[in-house]
Amino acid sequence: MFDTLDRQPPDALLAVIGMHRADPRPDKIDVGVGVYRDETGTTPVMGAVKAAEARLLSEQVSKSYLGAEGDQTFTDSLAHVALGEALAADSRITGIQTPGGTGALRLAAELLARTERRPTVWVGAPTWPNHAPIFGEAGLRVASHGYFDAARGDLDFNLFVDGLTGAQPGDVVLLHGCCHNPTGTAFDAAQWQQLATMVVARGLVPLVDLAYQGLGRGLAEDAAGMRALLTAAPEALVAYSCDKNFALYRERVGALWVQAPSPAVAVPVRETLLVLARSLWSMPPDHGAAAVREILSDAALSADWQAELTGMCERINALRLALGQAHPALAPIARQQGLFALLPIDRGAVRQLRERHAIYMPDSGRINIAGLRHETVAPFIDALAPHLP
Ligand code: PMP
Repeated sequence: MFDTLDRQPPDALLAVIGMHRADPRPDKIDVGVGVYRDETGTTPVMGAVKAAEARLLSEQVSKSYLGAEGDQTFTDSLAHVALGEALAADSRITGIQTPGGTGALRLAAELLARTERRPTVWVGAPTWPNHAPIFGEAGLRVASHGYFDAARGDLDFNLFVDGLTGAQPGDVVLLHGCCHNPTGTAFDAAQWQQLATMVVARGLVPLVDLAYQGLGRGLAEDAAGMRALLTAAPEALVAYSCDKNFALYRERVGALWVQAPSPAVAVPVRETLLVLARSLWSMPPDHGAAAVREILSDAALSADWQAELTGMCERINALRLALGQAHPALAPIARQQGLFALLPIDRGAVRQLRERHAIYMPDSGRINIAGLRHETVAPFIDALAPHLP
């Protein structure tokens, strides 16, 4: 049976991680891996998470099973952070806990694949490399359309909208809620409004991937566009990850919310989500979500988490400013947001940076801004400058 399987290409980022690890040069720089790093180059456990974990350790009395919905108190508390008060109280919206943002996207894909419509999912290019496989593996058709204007280092809104000309009513449009991976771009408030008008007029269904709330302009600002869209659209989906903004990566913490056209339709939506979750992972892992629940249900821990998140965001933005000021070709980086930026360099330059300067990034030229430290900005720019336009 198994001899019919083809070999698969290795994960591009894992290869970069492996090469970086094996490099003995002491001044090596890793801007490949997509996790936040502090000024010492580590990805620490957040203070509020540590405190919440200590509480769980002393107070948790049972590890018995939860249901397929996971920890509903976690999801409902998180709804206030992600969706805001009005939408969190909207009975057309139903949400369950998922194993990370990836689990939320896969559950969304399985739900869409269960509908009679079996929509095409429209994905702007470039995007997180896992988006197309997640929907494709669920049996959905994935259509790619334009998004990024590399010359300007910004999103091209007209290109994005024009690329949706072939989308049929009921098709799904994937939108990054903030901090676009890999380009660092974000729709502005006017563009979100235009998107809202368009999806309503054309009967398209937005699926917002919100994986970096709080790492762009702030918790409320990073969700504002998505909330405006949800307020306008009759149907929508939100795939959420807590893995970056709570630094819980390996704990796999996320949620999926689905907005149905009416509270009555939200009932079979929820029932279907639970049936699908049951066969995908039965129930999501508890620990990380329980820590988030503890934080969000305690004003002091919440304030502590938000302060640390703001600090992370400020560090990223200070590095963005330093990069943007260091070279004219990098100026867009200062205007962008979140962990990532796409450098205007080719694969040959990526290889030379790796071989000559021990600077590691995937072939796409995507860098994790937080992989830099203030003292490594100058050597990074020195190595990069000859390759920039
Ligand atoms: N969406 C985007 C845009 C991402 O960058 C990521 C993580 N790299 C995810 C979703 C998935 O996040 P998680 O690790 O929670 O599965």
